[in-house]
Amino acid sequence: MKAPYDALMPLPKAELHLHIEGTLEPELAFALAARNGVSLPYADEDALREAYRFEDLQSFLNLYYELMAVLRTERDFEDLANAYLARAAAQGVRHAEIFFDPQAHLARGVEMGTVVEGLWRALGSSRENHGVSTRLILCFLRDESAASALETLDAAKPYLDRITGVGLDSAEVGHPPVKFREVYEAAAALGLHRVAHAGEEGPPAYVVEALDVLGVERIDHGLRSVEDPALVERLVRERVPLTLCPLSNVRLRTVDTLADHPLPAMLEAGLMCTVNSDDPAYFGGYAGDNFDAVREALGLTGERLRELARNSFLASFLEDDEELRARYLAEVDAYEFPAA
Ligand SMILES: [Zn+2]
Repeated sequence: MKAPYDALMPLPKAELHLHIEGTLEPELAFALAARNGVSLPYADEDALREAYRFEDLQSFLNLYYELMAVLRTERDFEDLANAYLARAAAQGVRHAEIFFDPQAHLARGVEMGTVVEGLWRALGSSRENHGVSTRLILCFLRDESAASALETLDAAKPYLDRITGVGLDSAEVGHPPVKFREVYEAAAALGLHRVAHAGEEGPPAYVVEALDVLGVERIDHGLRSVEDPALVERLVRERVPLTLCPLSNVRLRTVDTLADHPLPAMLEAGLMCTVNSDDPAYFGGYAGDNFDAVREALGLTGERLRELARNSFLASFLEDDEELRARYLAEVDAYEFPAA
């Protein structure tokens, strides 16, 4: 079998849209279940892998929350993050801004400190161990209440030295950004960066609202922005980064096939797009796999792929280490694409 193009000598890239809970591979799920005495309703890894072939957002979310039961201790979160970082590094990821969903853990009786300190055990030494710099972004579940989001931010206050920003994820439709105005204002007052999922299943108006009401600096997904020319014009003018996740879009049927993905048209329009993996264990690929997939299905040239990689570092929250950002950008510029 031909090696994936991006796997030959991976293009350096930053990953800006990655849910750490979505990196739980069946093997690790079973290992953690055994360690913690949690029984999973699947006979073996193959049966679980079969369940990963879900057909829509709700069946994905059901499985996603079900499997979180195996994550109980700091060591579990550390192992989860290390497994992701090793895979990401092998695919050229040099910097990762990692989402986590504390409400899903707090609801199961797992403390904020267990989650953050566990993840930090891997993230804090990631540059030495994996060659990957990291940031941590706390996400609120938008299908939970605004009050719950505020309580979650409160519970995170002792750990803000570990947390770079806040985000908003889970089921989008019916949960517009405005619902979270107060918690985003509180996050801004704490000096946290702000991002939000918008325009994945939800309308372009949610993207506008995320920008105007929540003050976000990046839009996660933002795919449906293309339906609103005035919004596209604004996103181009304001250089708002979009964290696209092509393989996720196919699995969750946001697009019919990868060949239908609007990424080339979005780049052509001048949008600041990046390519990311979202929940790679569930959606069939890590960051490099997503680069490979769009190159192949959409025929992106090396220079377009380089633009995507440059965008990923430019859109990163590396303002506290501009020297590192410059070094990453220089690596992207110096990268020589292998002959296809
Ligand atoms: Zn996502």
